[in-house]
Amino acid sequence: MKTETISTICRMCDHGCGLEITLEHGRPVSLRGSQEHPFNKGWLCAKGRAALDFLHSPQRLSSPLIRRNGKFVPIEWEDALTYAAEKLLWVKDQFGPQSLAIYHGEGVGHQEIKYYMKRFANVYGTPNFMGVGSFCNASRTLAEILTFGGLTKPDISNTHFLIIWGGNPLVSHEPVTPKELTRLRKRGG
Ligand code: SF4
Repeated sequence: MKTETISTICRMCDHGCGLEITLEHGRPVSLRGSQEHPFNKGWLCAKGRAALDFLHSPQRLSSPLIRRNGKFVPIEWEDALTYAAEKLLWVKDQFGPQSLAIYHGEGVGHQEIKYYMKRFANVYGTPNFMGVGSFCNASRTLAEILTFGGLTKPDISNTHFLIIWGGNPLVSHEPVTPKELTRLRKRGG
């Protein structure tokens, strides 16, 4: 059996944690956080650890689907693109280009495809282009700039009492915060 391990990075969010992936005949079969990576040093969040579950999931979409008689059925790429193009032109014709809004997820926000999507929005004629940051990080950034004069970071290593609102950084954040939180707990915070 041909087995090899390759080094790469996770691109499901902007942190880009280092990964070591074991391949058997070119198929990824296991992964771990890269100890050598200067940022995550072996750590991975729940999403990163589950990356192969996403990759190999039988529920993962592998072709476009179209709804017919209330059910989603597979469709050829060429037909799906033609259908989408016709609908997009119809929407533009009926309601104007600004009736279209485009939203992209966190992972896409840090990949080159985002720039193609922006270009598409530009050519279509809509300014309504947004991503996950438009709903969370951008408002936080603006609020901190208006309140404190700049983007801040909590000083967890000098904190004894911490309120976390609307998040669970122990399982879903970049490596630094979970490590600081673990240290805070150990010193009785
Ligand atoms: S924090 Fe999680 S999702 Fe983001 S790059 Fe690291 S492992 Fe991937």
